[in-house]
Amino acid sequence: MEKINALSIDLEEWYHSELVEGRRSSFSQATEATQPILDLLDRYQTKATFFVVGEVAEQNPRLIQSIFERGHEIGCHTFSHTLVWELGENLFRQELERFQSVMERILGKIKIKGFRAPCFSIDNRNKWALRVLADFGYQYDASIFPLKINPLYGINGAPTRPYPISFEDIRREDPQSPLIEFPMCPLMIGRLKIPISGGFYLRILPTPFLYWGLRRINQSQPFLVYFHPWEGYEKTPRFKLPLYSRVITYYGISTALKKFEFLLRHFKFGRVDQVLGLR
Ligand SMILES: [Zn+2]
Repeated sequence: MEKINALSIDLEEWYHSELVEGRRSSFSQATEATQPILDLLDRYQTKATFFVVGEVAEQNPRLIQSIFERGHEIGCHTFSHTLVWELGENLFRQELERFQSVMERILGKIKIKGFRAPCFSIDNRNKWALRVLADFGYQYDASIFPLKINPLYGINGAPTRPYPISFEDIRREDPQSPLIEFPMCPLMIGRLKIPISGGFYLRILPTPFLYWGLRRINQSQPFLVYFHPWEGYEKTPRFKLPLYSRVITYYGISTALKKFEFLLRHFKFGRVDQVLGLR
């Protein structure tokens, strides 16, 4: 039977991307950049999970209502998109509280089950974040990037499929854990692990390779795609960044939405909570 994969959108602004961070702007583009994604999801009758930045929700409440009314899952991507290891425990708690109160103002009391850290910023240095998430009633986390390929994030040796995550060592399973981890799933070829299912990796890899690689992952497990509205939006403003940052951030924006649609056409997707069997 064909596997159902998890589809996640990190709902943030064009100035939240990892190498642009710090150059804030009051110019909000989230609503218009997200609309084509919502239209595609409707066209392919697919539900997804939107990990929302609280301050973006505050500026775009009708967008959040529209996402929710269409049956998509709302998850948390912090309030201000600050990296979790820069926050420390107290500020992290405050971020989750602020996120919760914004969501309550917009949607009323709804249960938020899932969390994604900005730029995958949870590893063993700040594993305390997992206990905080459990304290707040979160049921799953989707912040672990199980290989070290980027200078900013990633941890070698973490599982590459969903697992109950240990609060002592995020690379270990703990059957008693109240929190399920859905890590990014790299393509494995022998001992080689290649990130493939989101962001820059999705934009730069040729479509036939993506198709082959994702099918190969699906032989044994579901995968988790992550995508950002600014990644598929032609009008995303371009900062003058150094070459490396410019390539990582802006390469392939003009074709990204086509790739996104290709995935919807060729693979089955659902909300993260549904793929994990959570209620
Ligand atoms: Zn983000």
